[in-house]
Parts: sequence; structure tokens; C-alpha cells
Amino acid sequence: MPELPEVEVVRRGLVTHVVGRTFTRVDVLHPRPVRRHLAGPDDFAAAITGRTVLAACRRGKYLWLPLDSGEAILGHLGMSGQLLVQPVGAVDERHLRVRMVLDAPYELRFVDQRMFGGLAVSRSGGALPHEIVHIACDPLDPDFDDAVFVVRVRAKVSGIKRILLDQTVVSGVGNIYADEALWLAHLHGDRPGNRLTRSQVHEVLDGVRQVMTSALDQGGTSFDALYVNVNGESGYFDRSLEAYGRAGKPCARCSTPIVRVAFMNRSSFFCPRCQSRPRLRSR
Ligand SMILES: [Zn+2]
Repeated sequence: MPELPEVEVVRRGLVTHVVGRTFTRVDVLHPRPVRRHLAGPDDFAAAITGRTVLAACRRGKYLWLPLDSGEAILGHLGMSGQLLVQPVGAVDERHLRVRMVLDAPYELRFVDQRMFGGLAVSRSGGALPHEIVHIACDPLDPDFDDAVFVVRVRAKVSGIKRILLDQTVVSGVGNIYADEALWLAHLHGDRPGNRLTRSQVHEVLDGVRQVMTSALDQGGTSFDALYVNVNGESGYFDRSLEAYGRAGKPCARCSTPIVRVAFMNRSSFFCPRCQSRPRLRSR
């Protein structure tokens, strides 16, 4: 699943190749990716055709493209979605779902194998589509409020990993980044928010920013290519991970083998020595 840095890479690619361009034709090749556009695929295509893209914005893992109509294209990549900029005439991808031809020698394509992602036209568009006002800022967003985050985390009884994955508290933190940030902060994901000190929460936040920034730095080389790509199997996951996916391998700090446990239908990876489990209060 694309995580926030990958989505940010896509946004930057859209700024370079799509902002300022006008859609000349839109073909919806499969209805499912536009299912959240309740007026239907034809209305989706009609609302975009002839419109110029004013900007490329992101809130968490949502992307939106404000249009000169006052509306916006709102998109989410889901598990396997890709937004590609391809030369006109390039061979269609096997899972091409929506083709958006631009007044340029290239077109914007939405490709999605599993189709959990999708596109819609947001009528409110512009500043922030109403569909995503409940999504919190991500920690790299200049509007992110550290003090509010600390207060909210420390008011919750759930485990810190679960809190990090709650998009209403902080957006853009997926399973991999949560595990990496918790390893950096020396914290087990089951540690309840209300049992953490302020400085521990700040350390988690620093860890999240560190892994996101390093992922963005490593994804940076693809920005200048015409081919804008995001993919769960992409090279961004090749960067050095300290905990995620390293079950049985030695912790870089203490050499204790990293442990894997089930977590919300997925996995959590942690060092059992550096990130000890919360102790039950015994009375
Ligand atoms: Zn360790």
C-alpha cells in the first residue's frame, strides 16, 4: 500500500506535469474506481473535460486537483492505485481504469489492479474538499500542531501504534512507518497513549518525521522523470528499514532478533529488548 511519502512523490510529479494543463478528453474504462462520484462515470468525465488544473494538493494520503470550475478531482490510491503520466499512444496498462487526456503530448492515467482506490469530483473543490475535512494533517504539513497531537495522544487509552494509524489524529502514517517510528522511539506499540510522557510522544513524532523525510529523500530521484509512479512494490521500500519486515534479524542497536506479531490483520515488528511490552499494573 502506498504510504505518505510515495503519495507526496506523486503530488510533486503532478505539480510538474499536470498543473496548468487542460483535460481534453476523459474515458472511464471501469466504473468501480469512480464509484464515489455518485452522479456516475459520464458526469465525472463531463465535469473534468475542458477544465484546467490549478494545483496539486495533498492531505494525508488523499490527493486533490483544484480545477478552474471551482471543483476538484479528489483521489485516493487505495492498496494498489497508480497515477501515471504517459505519452499519448503508449501501450495501455493491463489495469488502466481512467484515461484523462491533456492538452500536452501526454495523458494522466489511473491504473489500479484491486480497485480499492478511486477518483471523484468534489463539488466544494478548492481549498479542502469537504469529503476529507475529518482527515488530520500529516506531520510534514506546516499546519500540523505538535502540541495538540501530544494532548490528543495522552488522552487515549489505546496503544500508541493504533493511535498512529488513526487518520483523525494524524494522517499518512501506515503500518511500516509506525513500526519504524516506534523502533526509533524505543516504544512498544501496545503502550497506552495515556501512559506516555510528553517527551515520549515527542520522540514518536520525531521518529515519524525522520522515516518520512528519509523516504522522501530516497524517492527524490524519480521526480524529474515524466513517468510519475507509485506502487506498493516500488523501490522506496528498498531503503533501509530497522524493524519492519526484519523478523529474526538482529536489532541494529542491541542485536536482539526482531520479533513479528499479528496486529489488526497485519503484522507488527519490534525489538523485544529496546521496545519492551507494557507491564500490567499489579496491585
Ligand atoms: Zn534492540
